[in-house]
Amino acid sequence: MTEDATPICSAKGCRAPAVWVLAWNNPKLHTPERRKTWLACEEHREHLAHFLGVRGFLKDVVALTDWEAPGGPGGPAGPEGGAGSAADR
Ligand SMILES: [Zn+2]
Repeated sequence: MTEDATPICSAKGCRAPAVWVLAWNNPKLHTPERRKTWLACEEHREHLAHFLGVRGFLKDVVALTDWEAPGGPGGPAGPEGGAGSAADR
């Protein structure tokens, strides 16, 4: 078993491969532009989205393939690839 690279669902006790990315933000802990992410399998997407949604934390639900795609939110060319840093100059 060497599946370290496979993203796993964030739901408690779930070992299913993740297919969704839930981007969220807790305004009490995080600056508005900060994004925390949970991963979800098909089965737990609704459960986790609801959990975050009722607290007002949920910002976005994106397919993992889109999230990791170049130019996507979590991809190599995404906003977290060093936005506003030295690479920008
Ligand atoms: Zn799951």
